[in-house]
Amino acid sequence: MQGRIAELVARKRAGKAFSAEEIGEVVSGVTDESLTDAEVTDWLRAVFDCGMDGAETTALTHAMLHSGTVLQWPDEWAHLVVDKHSTGGVGDKTSLPLAPALAACGLKVPMISGRGLGHTGGTLDKLESLPGYRVTLSMDDIQDILEDVGCLIAGQTDDIAPADRRMYALRDVTGTVASNPLITGSIVCKKAAENPSALVLDVKVGRAAFMRTEEEARQLAESMITAGNGLGIATSAILSEMDSPIGYAIGNSLEVLESIETLRGAGPGDLEELVCVLGGILLAASNSAEDAEEGAIMILDSLHDGSAFAKFQQMCIAQGADATLFESEHALLTGLGLLDASLNSTDVSAIQAGHVEAIDALELAEVALELGAGRKGLGDEIDHGVGIVLEAHIGSELEAGEAWVTIYHRNSLAKELKQRVEGALTLSPEPVEPGSRIIDVLG
Ligand code: URA
Repeated sequence: MQGRIAELVARKRAGKAFSAEEIGEVVSGVTDESLTDAEVTDWLRAVFDCGMDGAETTALTHAMLHSGTVLQWPDEWAHLVVDKHSTGGVGDKTSLPLAPALAACGLKVPMISGRGLGHTGGTLDKLESLPGYRVTLSMDDIQDILEDVGCLIAGQTDDIAPADRRMYALRDVTGTVASNPLITGSIVCKKAAENPSALVLDVKVGRAAFMRTEEEARQLAESMITAGNGLGIATSAILSEMDSPIGYAIGNSLEVLESIETLRGAGPGDLEELVCVLGGILLAASNSAEDAEEGAIMILDSLHDGSAFAKFQQMCIAQGADATLFESEHALLTGLGLLDASLNSTDVSAIQAGHVEAIDALELAEVALELGAGRKGLGDEIDHGVGIVLEAHIGSELEAGEAWVTIYHRNSLAKELKQRVEGALTLSPEPVEPGSRIIDVLG
């Protein structure tokens, strides 16, 4: 097929579009390994350099989706299966309250999620803080949990989108990750493999996000909306700010605890807003709410009436978590035993008085990574206990010497890490009005 790839690459480089058949041919060659790594890389590089239009990107996503298994659901769930994808943030634990809240509102959420790499945390890593929680589920488990509970959060199986696994690994080592058509194909094909009727994408924008500018984020969101809709999935997106951490907690166990607070109606306002807006869009898209505003109120109610938390407990227990974790109010109030008593903690205080204008999420995430909360390489072990808890957020007023953040660490804390946390705070002499994280809603 060497000549064929050279011909396709030459045509792309001459400004021509690929047909859906040509894209299908390449993706088949990726999956059955009839194409060599060098051939796949040549093709990926041509796409990286020259781009693809909406029709090509949709054809790529379709071919990648059908390189593997597509989950099948009973007919009566046709309009009920939904999911969300986030491009990755700091302290982004939105999936943990969102999936059960949607289930409490009657939807089915087979959320296939990923692990963290680099400064962004992974949903699966967070949930594995719960003793016994299994992220590997069989097809039968998936059907049963969705039937009985309505939501699950699990890892990707080998038979979902195998073309993406090979293409992503090659993109990663050849510097061709940052391409909108390739990112779109990769993200949307894995979500489409869940066979949802509606999908919402949370495209993060800012210093701690993959997309640094609103313009870049908007282009990626539009590309993913086109591909998702092209596959028959009602797809929308929000653009949301990712300069300061979401909520107060960064680190796996700490984020599970903050998610539980949110599921008990006592979470941070910005996290609750994200959950309600994303959930509201999905409830409207699946005709379970009149519009996204009504849907957001349904989600808010589920967080405050205990129904979303009940779904969360059922989901965790169905996925193997120790049922006694949730049995007493005392256990809930004292952190389910997830707060590791052997950790040390260090408070960091404001050097002068002022109003919090910025908290550098990227800097705090990199410190958390150094503490062991994340992995630098694919095979690294993570420490579920360590992390950072903020005592302040944008707009808080601090006195000189007042602690604004606590670092949970093993052994002693390196001086350099403490200094990096100190440097993450920007104070203003003037009052600061905290705004919404949500920049725009698209689709
Ligand atoms: N996440 C993915 O799954 N794929 C990409 O290409 C980028 C981010």
